[in-house]
Amino acid sequence: MAKKNYLVIDIAYCHDCNDCFIACKDEHYMNSWLPYTDEQERHGPRWMNIERQERGQYPRIDVNFLPKPCQHCTDAACAKAYPDAVQVREDGIVILDAEKAKGVKGLVDACPYGAIWYNEERDVAQKCTLCAHILDGKASSVLSCPRCAHSCPTGAIQFYSLDEAEFKTKAAEEGLVRYKSEISGDGLVWYKNFYRWSSHFIAGGLLKDGDCAEGVTVELKGAGAPAQVTNYFGDFWFDGLAPGTYTVVANGKDVKEVTIEKSVNIGSIAI
Ligand code: SF4
Ligand code: SF4
Repeated sequence: MAKKNYLVIDIAYCHDCNDCFIACKDEHYMNSWLPYTDEQERHGPRWMNIERQERGQYPRIDVNFLPKPCQHCTDAACAKAYPDAVQVREDGIVILDAEKAKGVKGLVDACPYGAIWYNEERDVAQKCTLCAHILDGKASSVLSCPRCAHSCPTGAIQFYSLDEAEFKTKAAEEGLVRYKSEISGDGLVWYKNFYRWSSHFIAGGLLKDGDCAEGVTVELKGAGAPAQVTNYFGDFWFDGLAPGTYTVVANGKDVKEVTIEKSVNIGSIAI
């Protein structure tokens, strides 16, 4: 069976530098890679789009970024809606036919990820091709991986060409997940440390005699998470939580009950 081409994107390492977006633009603006895709418009389309999300409240806050190209879904909604205009290759790459997607503006709304853009200049629906022209050896490039993966300075975007079974083992070992898998099933784009995007945290600090209480063992009843030891600032931070009610326990004593709908900084607790 042919190997499949996967992108693994680590939420913990994306800093929103947009190098991936610029590399994609550089590869596809003023370059026509037919029959894969005609050239991209200069302004507007973001085949590699980066979504942003804040969690918590000052000063216990974090910001996470979700680089989002076409997910190359196995159960692709775009292919179901417009089977003539969408080709699903044996290696899993989903391609919008550069001829048959002409004038098909409905493709933009057919994608539940918002990954399809309409090129008004060329009058055609377009999206990320997983740089199939490079992977197929049809570009003059010396690269053997998609431009976005090659350009990522933190290594947040990694490319793998693997047997499906081999990749599934890797995904299980590293806790890789699909974004919105409930609507698109399997696919070629997977995420690491996705809890930073999809779940919540409870963070706070402990005070003893008015000073930061360093080295105190803190548990969070109801979370099933391992106990933590407060840092130099007396801080603790439990992540990966679902909405619900939890109890903060310090040195074996219940000190605060917290109900969350989203990430919260619960402030300082005197112990
Ligand atoms: S992300 Fe959207 S455009 Fe890409 S394969 Fe899935 S449904 Fe189609
Ligand atoms: S794989 Fe290629 S086409 Fe897709 S987002 Fe990355 S650079 Fe753009």
